[in-house]
Amino acid sequence: MTDNQVRVRFAPSPTGKLHVGGARTAIYNWAYARATGGKFILRIEDTDPTRSTEENTQIIVRALRWLGLDWDEGPEVGGPYGPYKQTERMDTYKAALEKLKAEGKVYPCFCTKEELDAKRKAAEEAGKKYTGYDRTCRNIDPAEAQRRIDAGEPHVWRLKVPLDHAPIEFDDAVYGHMKFPGEVMDDLILVRSDGSPTYNFAVVCDDTNMHITHVIRGDDHLSNTPRQILIYEALGYPVPTFAHLSMILGPDKKKLSKRHGATSVEEFRDQGYLPDTMVNFLALLGWSLDGETTLISREQLCKEFSLDRVTKKDAIFDQTKLDWMNGEYIQRMGAAAWVDYAKPWLVQAGATENDIDERHDWYEKIYPIICERLQRFDEIPAKLGYLFWGPEVHLDPASVKKVLLKANARADEAIQACRKVLADESIEWKCDPLQDACRALCEPMDLKPGKLFQPLRVAVCGNRVSPPLFESIELLPRKDVLARIDETYRRVFTDHEFDA
Ligand code: GLU
Repeated sequence: MTDNQVRVRFAPSPTGKLHVGGARTAIYNWAYARATGGKFILRIEDTDPTRSTEENTQIIVRALRWLGLDWDEGPEVGGPYGPYKQTERMDTYKAALEKLKAEGKVYPCFCTKEELDAKRKAAEEAGKKYTGYDRTCRNIDPAEAQRRIDAGEPHVWRLKVPLDHAPIEFDDAVYGHMKFPGEVMDDLILVRSDGSPTYNFAVVCDDTNMHITHVIRGDDHLSNTPRQILIYEALGYPVPTFAHLSMILGPDKKKLSKRHGATSVEEFRDQGYLPDTMVNFLALLGWSLDGETTLISREQLCKEFSLDRVTKKDAIFDQTKLDWMNGEYIQRMGAAAWVDYAKPWLVQAGATENDIDERHDWYEKIYPIICERLQRFDEIPAKLGYLFWGPEVHLDPASVKKVLLKANARADEAIQACRKVLADESIEWKCDPLQDACRALCEPMDLKPGKLFQPLRVAVCGNRVSPPLFESIELLPRKDVLARIDETYRRVFTDHEFDA
């Protein structure tokens, strides 16, 4: 570690999937480390045994990897200040407690939960605000306390907060100068009766032992910060710089939750958002490059990210912007990468993995006709299914009614005339010659291009809305296109399947 090197950490509790709020915190830490030439550390805070699982740890690690974030120290990569899981660091918390005991900065508290609850209740009934633990056990004679510990009486360890402590102040890199009155800080618990460290104690021990210089985290931890500062002071450790990030809200200004739709990185991945999109989008929820630029590459983010452009205003999750942005990244990713990324959704549309691998070139030809029409990959089955129907056509009844059965539209004539052109083997099976040859029908038939091409579109793609028609036709075998036209003609004009 070099002097003054920035060391930041993302410290998720593996109690669930990676929420987008957590992902944004991770991105800010990562980008800050990269922008400053510092180190990004991943630490798993799994000390709550009832809610933490190894499975969740794996899910979070996978989600971070999917986002393309890399950590310099942490699970899977190791590092000089490991282990990077709190449950494997118990001896460090013990050592810190021993140090505080030796210096008389903590005391054992034997108050039971029932006693504490009763006190809280009494205060509330008396119309007074409960101001925290009343320090009953602080005055027990040390020899007496030791006797009770030796006798096996359950106890927690509390911090002996100096009674005359001045207000606790710090300069938050986002919130600015913060001041909390010292007298409202009660003697917080550092170690529970089962010997496990509390969140505040473990975090301070870890951040110190891992030489963390900047704590960038959600502002739901803002009220923990003065308590943590008291612990730093007691341990005689330097206090890091804090940067608290505002909440991410839904469009209704309420905390983003399930009610608003997807909230975990995994869900966004499954809906077909690209990792680049997610990183760009989440980076802008509370930070901006210049207040204008919306498309920011990872490289740029890692160069330009700074804490002074992080705002304390709540960020609103704008789904429309996310969709737009994903569309932009799709247009920029190129055909080969698109095919590889689209694989699972192409399979849902009717392709097979084998075919994709064997005819990658053919699949790459889909890209130019779809890339401007796709915002999420999970739209692929609905939008591109027609490429995988073989000789069949899945006719959309509404399109049939609107286009093929429209009064005086002469759709039957139109598709028959086009069929003739498409059956003509002297015309090269390519978009432009086919389109030109069909277009040449307009004048003699006295039909506008739309009146000619829309029926053909429904007959080949099943729907009046589709990617470009002749580009699609080129991608399909001639015999399948002709078979689809024949099927359509038969069902609509001979069998009258769609007549009201
Ligand atoms: N483990 C805490 C959480 O997941 C984060 C603690 C911190 O960043 O200080 O909310």
